[in-house]
Amino acid sequence: MKISSIGEFGFINRIAPQFLKDIPDGVTGIGDDCAVIPWKENESLLVTTDMLIEDIHFLRTKISPRDLGYKSLAVNLSDIAAMGGTPESAFLSLGIPGDIDIEWLDDFYIGLDDLANQEHVLLLGGDTTKSSAKLVINITVIGKADPEFIKYRSTAKQGDIICVTGFIGDSGGGLKSLMEEKSLDDDIIYLIRRHNSPRAHLAEGVWLAKQEGVHAMMDVSDGIDSDLQRIMEKSRCGAKINIDNLPISQQLREVSGVFDWNSDEVAITGGEDYCLLVTVDPGLYNIISGKFEKEFHRKLPGIGLISNEEGKLKYFKNEKLVVIQGHGFDHFNNY
Ligand code: ADP
Ligand code: MG
Repeated sequence: MKISSIGEFGFINRIAPQFLKDIPDGVTGIGDDCAVIPWKENESLLVTTDMLIEDIHFLRTKISPRDLGYKSLAVNLSDIAAMGGTPESAFLSLGIPGDIDIEWLDDFYIGLDDLANQEHVLLLGGDTTKSSAKLVINITVIGKADPEFIKYRSTAKQGDIICVTGFIGDSGGGLKSLMEEKSLDDDIIYLIRRHNSPRAHLAEGVWLAKQEGVHAMMDVSDGIDSDLQRIMEKSRCGAKINIDNLPISQQLREVSGVFDWNSDEVAITGGEDYCLLVTVDPGLYNIISGKFEKEFHRKLPGIGLISNEEGKLKYFKNEKLVVIQGHGFDHFNNY
């Protein structure tokens, strides 16, 4: 059997039960954005790891080493944000092909260090090996959170309002611009920045995790079409998305208009936005979104509802059911 027949998530679900069965109470293993390990009474450790492989996650010709260093750490910090935690330390392993210059690697470390300094993360170790042809980057980040406030993918409730903490689709638009070699203007430059230099929503994660009424949380790495399905699986529910409410930036709208892209589909399936996807008690949504706006000076848009139709993700536009072309990212499924 080839892995493409079950996909990335089918594969993870296949191996997980064997390693989840002996896990002690209070420990979270495979299945969420981070593993959670009890540490002290009011403190749990969060651990996450992400790998970036040349020509799969990035093209060396389309991202500067400095941005790649920054992004490699940012995608890991985003998983800490997704649980409501604060990152503390990182480990970086590199598989380096022979054609990479030391100056390129110096710049990679400058980018990584920029973000590490910004977020007070210490690089504490890693590993260095030769790679046959492609650059391999693996980062592990350790963070902390008060167990009372950690948010999981498994705690969405029927009727919850689904929200995102930022624009979606910009990164996907940036990737499309790079791949289609669009000539640079301000809008395209903005989209490419969002793709090559994403911001982990750490402050938002810590703040949201403390709000009573925020039920489930994860980060948007594969696109909401795929990421919502992870929440649906873990929370045993369905979801309905109102496409008219998706927060799509003016820049993505403009560029989509010029090149005849479907901005809704870019927003839904693009991925790598690294904002947070949260589900909020409908009775507390107005209060939470009002407080969010005061704190972060932008809205917390509600984009849909958690439904009781387990496993069903439905999209509506002008109140009509629509079918979305394409899906979120899965390493082994091209659909
Ligand atoms: P994220 O996109 O938030 O990094 P993933 O979708 O990559 O999360 O992974 C989902 C869950 O599966 C996480 O808990 C991750 O640690 C776990 N996981 C992924 N790949 C493997 C693997 N090969 N072996 C064990 N656990 C894995
Ligand atoms: Mg994640």
